[in-house]
Amino acid sequence: MFIVQKFGGTSVGSAQRIRAVAARVAKRVQAGDQVVVVVSAMGHSTDELVGLSQAVSSTRNNREMDALLATGEQVSTALLAMALQDLGVEAASFTGWQAGVRTEPVHGAARIEAIDPQPVRTYVDGGGVPVVAGFQGIAAGAVTTLGRGGSDTTAVALTAALKADLCEIYTDVDGVYTADPRMVATARKLTDISYEEMLELANLGTQVLHPRAVETAKRHGVNVVVRTSFADTEGTVITDMASMEGLRVVTGVAFEKEVARIALVGMPRSERQLADVFTALADSQVNVDVIVQSVVKSETVDVSFTVQEADVERTLAICERSRERIAYKELLHETGLSKISIVGAGMISNPGVAAQMFAALEAVSAQVWMVSTSEIKVSCVIDQRHLKSALDSVHESFALHQE
Ligand code: ADP
Ligand code: ASP
Ligand code: MG
Repeated sequence: MFIVQKFGGTSVGSAQRIRAVAARVAKRVQAGDQVVVVVSAMGHSTDELVGLSQAVSSTRNNREMDALLATGEQVSTALLAMALQDLGVEAASFTGWQAGVRTEPVHGAARIEAIDPQPVRTYVDGGGVPVVAGFQGIAAGAVTTLGRGGSDTTAVALTAALKADLCEIYTDVDGVYTADPRMVATARKLTDISYEEMLELANLGTQVLHPRAVETAKRHGVNVVVRTSFADTEGTVITDMASMEGLRVVTGVAFEKEVARIALVGMPRSERQLADVFTALADSQVNVDVIVQSVVKSETVDVSFTVQEADVERTLAICERSRERIAYKELLHETGLSKISIVGAGMISNPGVAAQMFAALEAVSAQVWMVSTSEIKVSCVIDQRHLKSALDSVHESFALHQE
């Protein structure tokens, strides 16, 4: 078999862990498989690099941030290649650009445009194990990165480019659970999950896989398994909806902990209003999430929307700058909110799912401030202080702990 194995930060978090990963890779090579490895930076080293940048400069230079953050993965590739050689396995480190990863010319969250599989392919065909740096690429001669958690995407894209049989994502949990096992004690490991549900969960805050990795896997039909590098348990298979045993009404619960709500109150009614507000925000790369517009009395319109808590100041400044053009009466904001979501492909044909979620939230006195739905998800914005109990209550209400 031809496998791409990706090891996340915790999996390569220390010298001892790197040696353990090397032993795992070596075992596969000795069993006759062809293996390409993708690694993240060690432990929290990417966070530490971010901290260092803040200590030397108060402004953020995107080009240099990428140059800096990309070094984390270079450390772990070289160390893992050394550890493999120590076990008698021929191995070599590859930076993103040495591995042919080309991205769009955007810093901080670049999309992969193409991967030239040749350098890695040639090395594997020669009997070696290429150890590729995740999360990085090159565009117009500059180093780019794919956004936090982006090594998953490197691994899946490389699997597609190499036409490998399988992409194994090794992390610190032994699969995809019905909820974050760090938050919900009764969360259960799923044997399988569809690309669609996994994509929705990832987009709604489930950290275990990067959303673009799932998107890429779905587009290219890449077989993905999520499993742990700490034991030999079976993981979770990400698969086509068609090959699953039956559709679950609700498959999992996701959350985003730090959410803020911005409200523009008392705008005159006009067809340009919404476009004006959201174009200004999009131009400044602010990610707007749940949007609610209400027209209670006919002359004015109120719009409220959520952004990540870290974007509040920027969002308020943009709204202030557009005050005259948009002509709102009041600009309000509120922090300390969270978003909780349920995802399930069987929701489409089951009315009453949203009602059941509201009841579960009410049961723990979590007031719902905003709601947004799609065919396979329902999201509610609630107060952050209720998040933990809300996750437990919703998980329990849909009996997600049961098979
Ligand atoms: P890595 O460094 O290996 O990429 P991440 O920290 O990105 O690992 O992802 C693994 C983490 O995702 C777990 O430690 C877990 O707390 C979190 N997580 C959140 N939701 C889920 C879920 N539904 N299933 C499994 N893990 C989840
Ligand atoms: N090292 C990067 C991060 O911490 C990329 C990754 O781990 O996937 O976000
Ligand atoms: Mg990750």
